[in-house]
Amino acid sequence: MPELPEVETVRRGLQPALEGQILKSVIVRPPNLRLPFPKDFAARLTGCKVERLSRRAKYLFMHMKGGDVAIIHLGMTGHLRVIDGNAPAPGKHDHVDFCTKSGATVRFRDPRRFGLMTLTTEEKLETHRLIKNIGPEPLANDFNDKVLGTALKGRAAPIKVVLLDQKTVAGLGNIYVSESLFRSGISPKRQAKSVQGGRAEKLTRAIQEVLWEAIEAGGSTLKDHLQPDGELGYFQHHFKVYGKEGKSCPNCNTGSHVIKKIMQSGRSTFYCSNCQR
Ligand SMILES: [Zn+2]
Repeated sequence: MPELPEVETVRRGLQPALEGQILKSVIVRPPNLRLPFPKDFAARLTGCKVERLSRRAKYLFMHMKGGDVAIIHLGMTGHLRVIDGNAPAPGKHDHVDFCTKSGATVRFRDPRRFGLMTLTTEEKLETHRLIKNIGPEPLANDFNDKVLGTALKGRAAPIKVVLLDQKTVAGLGNIYVSESLFRSGISPKRQAKSVQGGRAEKLTRAIQEVLWEAIEAGGSTLKDHLQPDGELGYFQHHFKVYGKEGKSCPNCNTGSHVIKKIMQSGRSTFYCSNCQR
């Protein structure tokens, strides 16, 4: 499932093809995604100029001249790619094409159809029902240990579980939560509310470092997630604990402490019980 760094990578990959471009046509093919497309989705976007692409958590926003905003979510298996020149005939899972006047096609493919696309306006974006309850953006300039500490206050559940809740911090999924907790030396089983002060500081730094490194590496490639140019990302090679069950801990480095895998709220967690407390 694409996480925040993958979505940011997709945004960056789409920018050259879409920003400043006029959409010549928008083709929507049935069946619907997780939510039905708005009836006027293609009509409202056709002929409009894409001013810029932005991101909030795992949502991509396509800001149109005139004030409309297309909201795009990749779901579990959605990906976008840029095709220059003539696009090949669409496959079974190619649900949407955005064709620009300059001749590029941005094609959305989503075999499991958990993704979604909808429309809103600049004025209504912040209060849109999909967006309004999302927690603080971890890569925003105003995200810090105080913001994180406040979000964790009073939460008795394990920190791992609380961090997966999109209302705590936006856009964190299973991979980057495991990696951030490892890097900050915090046990995934620790009660969230006890992560305050110095611990909150360490965790904040770890979350930001892990996300920026992933963005720089071009997004990871669990499942069949593709970057817009069709190239697979490679951040997965840099995971320290995720998927490393039974391997010796790269931090303890003694050979006697191995990465453990446990289940928390139905999701796998990878950690070292020696150096994460
Ligand atoms: Zn360790």
